[in-house]
Amino acid sequence: MRYPEEIIEEVRSRNDIVDVVGQYVHIQKRGANYVGLCPFHNEKTGSFAVSPSKQIFHCFGCGAGGNVISFLMKYDNLTFQEAVQQLAQRAGVKLPEEDNSPEARARRDKRQILFDINKEAATFYYKNLRSRNGAKGMEYFKERKLSDDTMKQFGLGFAGVSSDEMVKHLRSKGYQDSQIIEAGLATFDEKRGTHDKFWNRVMFPIQDASQKVIGFGGRVMGDGKPKYLNSPETPIFDKSRNLYGLNIAKNSRAGYFIICEGYMDVIAMHQAGFNMAVASLGTAFTPGQAQILKRYTDEVILSYDSDEAGTKAALRGIGILKDAGIKGKVLNLKPYKDPDEFIKNEGREAFEDRIRNARSTFFFEMEVMESQFDMSDPESKTDFHRALATKLAGFEEAVERENYIEAVAARYNIALQDLKDLVAQVAATAGRVKPAERPRSGIQPKRSPEDGARKNQRLLLTWLTDEPQIFPKVKRWVTPEDFSDDLYRTVATELFSGMEIGNFSPAAILDRFEDEEQQRQVAEMFNTNLIDIETPDQRRKAFHDIIYGVKLSGNERLKKSLQVDDPEYLTKTIQAKKELEKLAHADISPDD
Ligand SMILES: [Zn+2]
Repeated sequence: MRYPEEIIEEVRSRNDIVDVVGQYVHIQKRGANYVGLCPFHNEKTGSFAVSPSKQIFHCFGCGAGGNVISFLMKYDNLTFQEAVQQLAQRAGVKLPEEDNSPEARARRDKRQILFDINKEAATFYYKNLRSRNGAKGMEYFKERKLSDDTMKQFGLGFAGVSSDEMVKHLRSKGYQDSQIIEAGLATFDEKRGTHDKFWNRVMFPIQDASQKVIGFGGRVMGDGKPKYLNSPETPIFDKSRNLYGLNIAKNSRAGYFIICEGYMDVIAMHQAGFNMAVASLGTAFTPGQAQILKRYTDEVILSYDSDEAGTKAALRGIGILKDAGIKGKVLNLKPYKDPDEFIKNEGREAFEDRIRNARSTFFFEMEVMESQFDMSDPESKTDFHRALATKLAGFEEAVERENYIEAVAARYNIALQDLKDLVAQVAATAGRVKPAERPRSGIQPKRSPEDGARKNQRLLLTWLTDEPQIFPKVKRWVTPEDFSDDLYRTVATELFSGMEIGNFSPAAILDRFEDEEQQRQVAEMFNTNLIDIETPDQRRKAFHDIIYGVKLSGNERLKKSLQVDDPEYLTKTIQAKKELEKLAHADISPDD
């Protein structure tokens, strides 16, 4: 259900954006804003600004932006309704009761229906495993030495051999075939009609960080193909932004996470007391997953199978962790294949030992590289040293580089000075590694090529919200109709009419847009600042240029909107042109 405007307004105004964002991101007062490291992209300098007066946030690095509701939507991957509910609870605002009649349920948000279906399915599989039907599944888990508690903690279940028991069950609960298919629990074909996606499989429900079931993984009993089958992506199941086990691991006090390959690895590790284990979901580890882990920790240990595919996956994971600014290590499980096997054979303490001795990702990469060279051949050995030096030259920070040079020299028995010289030589021929360019904080966002017209419009909107006293001077020349595209014009109309009565709120204007991309753009309109204004003269000139720029594109729009054979075409365009000429020569100032 869509809550009434005034309720949303109340929820928003009773949740100060600085307080709410401050719960998730470390922000510090700087000038009129609070500034910190952006939670939506990886950075070392803070481009993420929260404005207490405008009640909006905006990142000058990646362009993310919005008000307190959209912050929560983006941070926790919530819908508008869910974010409002959370904030209402936080501020003690009572929301209108939800209507639970069948008609109301039919109207309810699609996502909620998908959550409901997944929950219903998880309960069904869970009970099934513990019934006579589930004997095969129970046998499988017992063979894997899972305790009842573990099976309960992970909500493990079983999909029976019949191929329509889930469809039948969900229909009996009042769900339509189309909804069951959309939830990823059934598929349709001409021959069989709507039938179960999962059958004859042990089932692993996948939960999001707030414990809601969002999908399933199923392992086939016997030798059927595919061995593992996962729910497809659905509106509530985004594989690249969720991790198996995170709902439990996020509460671990270990201070790091261990990423492993599969469901059974995670479960075996948790059972052995390693409650920081998570797994990516039937896909490779993704940057989105790294960003989520980064909310909880700076250190991640990769624990992939000790085969070629596992090594490749680890190398790829290392790059992703590095990009996300996470310190990575790699666990050596040899001679065993995976953590499950290791723990069964060697036990918990031995595994802890391996964690303590996890190699830094750098040395893991070195070892993989070493295996590609023949160390008994002097020429190949030299090539290897050169490759080492190239890697070492890639460290941007001198201290870090020096430390690694020393460690590598010791480990591979190379004279320290020789290695230093080699690194210097490689660095000189390759050209110094240039540090990534960072956007200057408080300056224009580093986004797609600037569209000059829109830039002026954004600058004007920001200026107006920063210094509302200039409004009378602005409206002498500019109307909302001068703003070139629909979104800008809607925002300008709202802002101008609010300013007319001396009551405007950027955060409230954002509430009119539920679409994330639109919210981002609107937040950007209120956060586009001018650079290099120091003298009153520069300020006047900027004011004039911006207003002229907005008016100029307004005239373009006017011309396009009128038909040439419109009797008023000439009058209107000539008048607009005259006005523009007058503006060009007018001496206007934002100050009195
Ligand atoms: Zn950002």
